[in-house]
Amino acid sequence: MSIWVGKIALLIGILAVVAIRAPHGKERSKIKTVVSRRGKLEIALLALAWIGSVLPLLWIVTPFLAFADYTLSPISFGMGVAFFVLGLWTFYRSHADLSTNWSLSLNILENHTLITTGIYKNIRHPMYAAIFLQGLGQALIASNWLVGPSNLCVFLLLFAFRLRPEEQMMAQHFGPDYETYRNRTKRIIPRVW
Ligand code: SAH
Repeated sequence: MSIWVGKIALLIGILAVVAIRAPHGKERSKIKTVVSRRGKLEIALLALAWIGSVLPLLWIVTPFLAFADYTLSPISFGMGVAFFVLGLWTFYRSHADLSTNWSLSLNILENHTLITTGIYKNIRHPMYAAIFLQGLGQALIASNWLVGPSNLCVFLLLFAFRLRPEEQMMAQHFGPDYETYRNRTKRIIPRVW
């Protein structure tokens, strides 16, 4: 299968991610931050996430990363598209449900409310689940040893270093309400984990 099929599909996926997030970024800029957890670790994580999202674009539009290309298989491509589409849906739903409570960094915003319904009903981190699904999709669509796994690495970093401080911040702010929510939900996979 032509590597360009993977490149075009991934480009469409990236544009969809940007289109889903853009209106929320605009809304977010109008809302005051009450508590910010933007420490050195958070800045490093955001920078690595940025690199993880730029690498695929570099691969699509330039030949610089072609040395790590390999042949794309139709089965891998088909599975990759399925994971990516599921990831996009999850990404869309989590932004819609968080609404004005969403921010790129770890923040408590003015009039922040704890969302426990919609896609947040059974899992606490659907947006990270979405990044995992998109990462898995990218790993199967982008037939390049460097670009393929780049977003899965972003997910692993977020998961390893951000989840705990985020939950601590939420527990400090929302107290028993968050504890109750945490006790009845899973992190990423509904009913499992
Ligand atoms: N970890 C979540 C949200 C990521 S966006 C997910 O994967 O879906 C990060 C911001 O979302 C944090 O600043 C936090 O304040 C906010 N947030 C996380 N869970 C929330 C919830 N259940 N209700 C309201 N805000 C939440």
